[in-house]
Amino acid sequence: MRREGFCCLLPHASWLNVMNIRKNDSVMVVAGRERGKTGKILRVIPDKDAAVVERVNLVKRHSRARGPQQPGGIVEKEAMIHLSNLMVMCDKCNAPVRVGKKISPAGEKTRICRRCGDPLE
Ligand SMILES: [Zn+2]
Repeated sequence: MRREGFCCLLPHASWLNVMNIRKNDSVMVVAGRERGKTGKILRVIPDKDAAVVERVNLVKRHSRARGPQQPGGIVEKEAMIHLSNLMVMCDKCNAPVRVGKKISPAGEKTRICRRCGDPLE
């Protein structure tokens, strides 16, 4: 199991985005073909600044049968989507919001909604 989140020792351009979006977040697509759709983050791909979102950016894959358990046919599968097209949904605001960061006295980083200030965890 790979650790999500704090994956890079060296900060680079995508660091902020990778920090702000995590697996199991609810997000809205704010740009591109799938704009307006919401879904849950299934996977984050930090190397590509992208994520896979449940039921968003579906592509049809034609697969060959691999035995009785896996019949062939057309399978719909989520393709990854660039993080810049995504915004985290805040439950309280019921809207896509920008994510802020708060550091507790204990030094723990918490993600907060920039609109209402509530923690997103
Ligand atoms: Zn909020």
